[in-house]
Amino acid sequence: MGVQNKYDVAVIGAGVFGAWTAWHLTKRGQRVALIEAYGPAHSQASSGGESRIIRMGYGADELYTRWSQKSLKQWKEFFAATRQPLFLETGVLWMAGDEDKRLEQTSATFQRCGVTFEELDRAALEKRYPQIGLDGIKRGILEPKSGVLMARRAVAAVVEDAVRLGVEYRCAQAMNPREAGRVEHITTSQGERIAAGQFVFACGPWLGKVFPDVLGSRIFPSRQEVFFFGIPAGDMRFAPPALPTWLFQEDLVYGMPDIEGRGLKIAFDEHGERVDPDTQSRFVSPAMTEAVKKYVARRFPALKDAPIVETRVCQYENTSTGDFLIDRHPEMENVWFAGGGSGHGFKHGPAMGEYVTGRLLDEAPAEARFSLETKATTQSRAVF
Ligand SMILES: Cc1cc2nc3c(=O)[nH]c(=O)nc-3n(C[C@H](O)[C@H](O)[C@H](O)COP(=O)(O)OP(=O)(O)OC[C@H]3O[C@@H](n4cnc5c(N)ncnc54)[C@H](O)[C@@H]3O)c2cc1C
Repeated sequence: MGVQNKYDVAVIGAGVFGAWTAWHLTKRGQRVALIEAYGPAHSQASSGGESRIIRMGYGADELYTRWSQKSLKQWKEFFAATRQPLFLETGVLWMAGDEDKRLEQTSATFQRCGVTFEELDRAALEKRYPQIGLDGIKRGILEPKSGVLMARRAVAAVVEDAVRLGVEYRCAQAMNPREAGRVEHITTSQGERIAAGQFVFACGPWLGKVFPDVLGSRIFPSRQEVFFFGIPAGDMRFAPPALPTWLFQEDLVYGMPDIEGRGLKIAFDEHGERVDPDTQSRFVSPAMTEAVKKYVARRFPALKDAPIVETRVCQYENTSTGDFLIDRHPEMENVWFAGGGSGHGFKHGPAMGEYVTGRLLDEAPAEARFSLETKATTQSRAVF
């Protein structure tokens, strides 16, 4: 087949990062192709869950707090403009026990960045959230304006709007580009050639498979299991506004209230084993099932015998530190990487799209933490 239309930019991958990148580029008048192997936020993609937390708290890490602020604003504007209520302001509650340094850092960052928050001592937590088992918890911080993005549907909405604005979406698998220097076109698995001035690979956990030489040892996809527990009939204590989204960092556990009747969501944020997104089993393990049940019994005593009503197995696409990877390919001058969401990337989709667009069109200054150079081949997690 011959070379198709030449685009200004071809974005490969329609997860949250690729979708927002294509959206921002088309808003700036670029002719954009968005190429996706399966479908926007499909079941195996990292963006493929029902829901993702959007929170401002990142301890002392002002960079991601500011990106969250920027992104929440854009998500809300986007949902208002497209009339889709896919952000739920459930509030986000951070809880801490003896190791509360991160909470102190978070409140200092919130003050500097102008984030609305409320500090709650143990007595206030007991009074407001009697349904939470506060064993080991001493204080909390509530972000009342943060909450949950309905992830899978939100990505589909961004892609739909990008297409309305002129992006050409196609379902195809892009083959790995090989030539050094300037890449003129990429080929799809059906043999079609797509020519573009620049190429952005937003392939999430697949980045290491698409660029094995450069990223095979720099992207660490980890297995993550998610559980939903059924709520007793007629019991509103586990739905918003009674229960907010919550995180207990010392145990690396987080959860969400009962949204759309799916049940109480809970997951461990600790990295699971290294996996391949194409082949990993999507069934939860007996060991994690037991661990999560025990945790629910401790933190939500009324749900001690609640049934597990739904599960999901996904993967984080970690970099060595958890910082994003947004940089040019070291040998292909017009090929870019946009990934490394590292288990916290979803909320940042709008800021990611804006940043990539700025790098491509305006040569906007690069943030050193996103560079390939800072991505090591051994993991040392620094962003949570
Ligand atoms: C269980 C779980 C919970 C999470 N919780 C949160 C949270 O609460 N808050 C938060 O902010 N973040 C969270 N995250 C992280 C967040 O979801 C990810 O960082 C983000 O979704 C990554 O998006 P992405 O676009 O980089 O990757 P993906 O969504 O995986 O998208 C990559 C896309 O590229 C496509 N692709 C790959 N190779 C090719 C190819 N050769 N040709 C064509 N297409 C290709 C894939 O099919 C895929 O659709 C969580 C992640 C998981 C797994």
